[in-house]
Amino acid sequence: MGELLVTKTAAGLRNLLDAGDVSAVEVAQAHLDHIEATDDQLKAFLVVMRESALTKAREVDARIADGAGAGLLAGIPVALKDIFTTRAVPTTCGSKILEGYRPPYDATVTSRLDAADAVLLGKTNMDEFAMGSSGENSAYQLTTNPWDLERVPGGSSSGSGAAVAGFQTPLAVGTDTGGSVRQPAAFSGVVGAKPTYGRVSRYGMIAFASSLDQASPFARTVTDAAWMLEAIAGHDPMDSTSIPEPFPNLREGLEAGVGGMRIGVVREFFESEGLEPGVRDRTQEAIQRLSKLGAQIVEVSLPHAVYGVSAYYLIAPSECSSNLSRFDGVRYGLRVDADSAEEMMAATREAGFGAEVKRRIMIGTYALSAGYYDAYYAQAQRVRTLILRDFAAAFEQCDALISPTAPTTAFRFGDKSDDPLAMYLNDIFTIPASLAGTPAMSLPAGLDEKGLPVGVQVMGPVLGEQVMFRVARALEAEIAFDPTPRGPNALELG
Ligand code: GLN
Repeated sequence: MGELLVTKTAAGLRNLLDAGDVSAVEVAQAHLDHIEATDDQLKAFLVVMRESALTKAREVDARIADGAGAGLLAGIPVALKDIFTTRAVPTTCGSKILEGYRPPYDATVTSRLDAADAVLLGKTNMDEFAMGSSGENSAYQLTTNPWDLERVPGGSSSGSGAAVAGFQTPLAVGTDTGGSVRQPAAFSGVVGAKPTYGRVSRYGMIAFASSLDQASPFARTVTDAAWMLEAIAGHDPMDSTSIPEPFPNLREGLEAGVGGMRIGVVREFFESEGLEPGVRDRTQEAIQRLSKLGAQIVEVSLPHAVYGVSAYYLIAPSECSSNLSRFDGVRYGLRVDADSAEEMMAATREAGFGAEVKRRIMIGTYALSAGYYDAYYAQAQRVRTLILRDFAAAFEQCDALISPTAPTTAFRFGDKSDDPLAMYLNDIFTIPASLAGTPAMSLPAGLDEKGLPVGVQVMGPVLGEQVMFRVARALEAEIAFDPTPRGPNALELG
């Protein structure tokens, strides 16, 4: 039963729990056992919260038995990227500088999941401060890709993506600043959905680039991702950038299909060098499927999207250089003692931050400095505005956009880690929607010739999550992808 339970979707578990066929404790136990059996290989979790998960599951069972009414995700296991604060539970953001930090409060995402009666299994590994596209920048461990343990799971939400793909949990939350949920979802054959910027509160989500950071769900189906997003989204007075409008019911209209919809194909994305043939082919097939389902396919242009990576790698580091100045050894985590306060701060930051984080702080500090601000930071902001306008113009011609999620499938450990530019280019298709603040999601479109999952990206207009999910759901039903990791180097599921 345990093995069977871990293969269920959140919606499938909901049916079993509601019918009384299984208890929340059994569901939690099955997933905790599976984590124990597989995490030596996968290394997706930094902390497994066995005791508190079982306590929560018992509470949920009691509430269901009393008919006391339980939340949307009652008894459903979830995992959280270690970027979200969890009261009294270690929260490292993948960095040595936060080693030993136990936050005194819960992030809004954490408390909303608890209020929805989800069962929190633990905290997942990530690239340090969410900077990375492979998971190789975690200061703690290397999460592997369940489809091929010698390949990267994608990043920066490496643990959340791998945990969902490896059946350790049906749902997980990650954060997407430039693609950190969509790209790992693509690499491991699951769904990752970034909503419109401002939909999910950033309160208690450790800041990387505040104008871009968005909490986003991972799931094995589009429907499950919609559930989780509904549970965590919505206005929060604790985040001044949170959108006041209520979040729509995504499950309504999810099955309405794409008949009569206009779907835009972004011309520039197919012209990009470095696009692997397997990725191109699966994306093209997805476009044909949409056409077969009754959508009208139109070609659109995002002429400034090619400058997205350059603009992003100025804006995101600039915001990071400012956000990360709070890690000074005075208030949180690590402190390396020295003779003066200034030397203590320098020594703490030298010892606490990894190479990529230091690179970003230096780039960002330079881009913001007097004399260079206009040429770099302000210029990047102007490019951002042009990209935003490109999206607005494209959405006058169509209801949703489709493209590959990443130019490649999962690469091998070490393949790009010595070449930051090659690594940054993996974000080429995800960054434009991040800069525009528009919703965008990845869903599996099949396998490439190496047997690795390919992700296809569906993008909607600002506040257009309903349309985006509808397109993704129609495509998912047509593709009928089996998310079970398989192949010669795949995770042994037991
Ligand atoms: N890979 C991108 C970066 O390294 C995106 C990260 C993210 O979305 N958090 O900045």
